[in-house]
Amino acid sequence: MKIGFATHPGRKRRHNEDAYVVEPPLFAVADGMGGAKAGEVASGLAAAALKEGASDASSGEDRVSSLIQEANRRVFRRATEDRDASGMGTTMTVALVDGDRVVFGHVGDSRAYLIRNGAIEQLTDDHSLVAELVRSGRLTPEEAESHPQRSVITRAVGTEPDVDVDTFVIEPTEGDLFLICSDGLTDMVDDRTIIQAIEKHRGDLDNAAKALVGAANRGGGEDNITVVFFEVDGGTGDTAVTQQAPVVESATSDDEDTLSGLEGVPPVETMVVTPGAAPALSEPPKRRRRALQISLALAALLIVAAAVLWLLEHV
Ligand code: MN
Repeated sequence: MKIGFATHPGRKRRHNEDAYVVEPPLFAVADGMGGAKAGEVASGLAAAALKEGASDASSGEDRVSSLIQEANRRVFRRATEDRDASGMGTTMTVALVDGDRVVFGHVGDSRAYLIRNGAIEQLTDDHSLVAELVRSGRLTPEEAESHPQRSVITRAVGTEPDVDVDTFVIEPTEGDLFLICSDGLTDMVDDRTIIQAIEKHRGDLDNAAKALVGAANRGGGEDNITVVFFEVDGGTGDTAVTQQAPVVESATSDDEDTLSGLEGVPPVETMVVTPGAAPALSEPPKRRRRALQISLALAALLIVAAAVLWLLEHV
């Protein structure tokens, strides 16, 4: 089985809140969110839950779903116990090579792709505000790409006691390549760039992953970038896969230098909209903004009142 992976904080963020699991036959990407360092905590907890593999189902979609449910319980528990971690959550896209099938589980807007015969196909549906609007015909895919709220997700691991997990199975054929990545890649590069990087580095998937991180950074590097590739060996590689020594890496921010000169750039915070009726989807950001405007107006009033009082006392 060929494997390749890379992660990078990008050019605008100080921390890498992405985490990944490369532990054949299990692969995953988690993109954490939350104030301060809570995003890192959320994605790290979710990845750890996956690596421990505590699942009550032995195989297939039930197993993947139950692994993600366990990750959800752990992140949610920490978020309720630790005030600094309140409201944190993470995306989670998981692939489990199970015999001659690949079982996927998915929550959020990280993505899984299948690259087959030089074509790329997105396997997962984004659980994001803009994707919902595209699916309901209220936004074109082109509008979604540059939408200011494109990082708002509608489903996350760890924000509710239970999570709704998408699961599906792909039966790979020889030469199929799978890619799991965070939105820091797909917001910055198009499908063509991904295919070109793969064609150029097909013999070394680590180099393909690094090339994509480089392309995302050249495209702006607005967010943390994580790329995981794996290629299943035409249905005969299962034994080799399960016997392979685990490769475990944590997604740590090891490249603070990339920030030089950009420290003042405010990070774009990801937020979750509680899933609900479609018409309500576009509401929360507006409401938040209005609430902010009201508190700013109140703050201004208080400053003026304080100034008047000071003048009355001192003049
Ligand atoms: Mn992200």
